Amino acid sequence: MIPVTKTFFPPLEEYNKYLEKIWQNGWLTNRGELVDTLEKKLRDFLGLSEKNKFFLTANGTLSLQLALHSLPEKGEIITTPFTYVATVSSIVWEGFTPVFVDIDPETLTMDPVKIESAITEKTKAILPVHVYGNPADVVRIDQIGKKYGIPVIYDAAHAFGVQFEERSVLEYGDISIISFHATKLFQTAEGGAVFTKNNKLFDKLFQMHNFGHLSPVSFGEVGINAKMSELHAAMGLAVLPYMNHIIESRKKVAELYDQYLDWTKLSKPKSRKGTSWNYAYYPVIFPDEEYLLRVVKKLNEKQIFPRRYFYPSLNKLPYLQYQKVPVSENIAPRVLCLPMYENLDKKSIIKICNIFEE
Ligand SMILES: *Cc1c(COP(=O)(O)O)cnc(C)c1O
Repeated sequence: MIPVTKTFFPPLEEYNKYLEKIWQNGWLTNRGELVDTLEKKLRDFLGLSEKNKFFLTANGTLSLQLALHSLPEKGEIITTPFTYVATVSSIVWEGFTPVFVDIDPETLTMDPVKIESAITEKTKAILPVHVYGNPADVVRIDQIGKKYGIPVIYDAAHAFGVQFEERSVLEYGDISIISFHATKLFQTAEGGAVFTKNNKLFDKLFQMHNFGHLSPVSFGEVGINAKMSELHAAMGLAVLPYMNHIIESRKKVAELYDQYLDWTKLSKPKSRKGTSWNYAYYPVIFPDEEYLLRVVKKLNEKQIFPRRYFYPSLNKLPYLQYQKVPVSENIAPRVLCLPMYENLDKKSIIKICNIFEE
């Protein structure tokens, strides 16, 4: 069976080494030594500037919820319809109204040209997504945010290790969030993080992720429990040393697809200029949905399971009032993510590519 992705499991002895530490410490959660160590190592790996502060969380969704919850008032959040459902459901869960700005047909990220006309006096934030690890137009979107005094929150769930213009893509905007779910490039089973360069906002978000505690006996903000446990941090510590290898290996998979797929009918999203990408996904755009469905059927018959990331276009969610976003509605039914993981072998890749020909 070939799934769309396979979680990277570090050697068990290496995970066990960290478990032994947890047993020695007698400490399972509430920011123990391992969470602290993972934060330090991630800071180095991601190449974050000193100003950019972050903390680890229980998952990406709670990280988004914290970011949204930190906004002073409810209202409208400008976002993209072409993303995983968590981006939009978090907005609704936190009591905001999503306002969709259509995507650019080449990069599949939020089209910055269409943002300004979506801004109203009710707009509380702009929430773009670095979809498939391809950065949103961070320079222009940050400019628009500044011009109107509207915070920019990036959903960087897919963007582990992505550099844009020689710096981490996590350096842009007012807040970025990431996910370390088992299906994401870097995994802690469940996990995530919140990044910001604003010290006051960092303190607020940090308090919020731990019930609002200022000290054991005093409270500031209304909080929730969004902490990462030591067991999850142990997984992260065991996986992190393999990340360069994992990204290299996925790069080879991508190059083989590039080589063996028939590009006369298919296309790929365009990578934003200035990006050093992480090979998080391998999306392919079909000329029509019928062709996509035929290929999926054939692949499934051979026990190969690609995924329709991201379908449907989220403006069609049943709990939302319909808003028209023609580009997203046109492309979402025609995009398929092909199997992509460390050590996916050449034979399997060629087999997948040949099914397209059939
Ligand atoms: C995975 C994902 C999330 C949610 O992250 P979890 O850690 O699974 O909660 C949010 N946004 C996007 C775009 C995602 O792909």
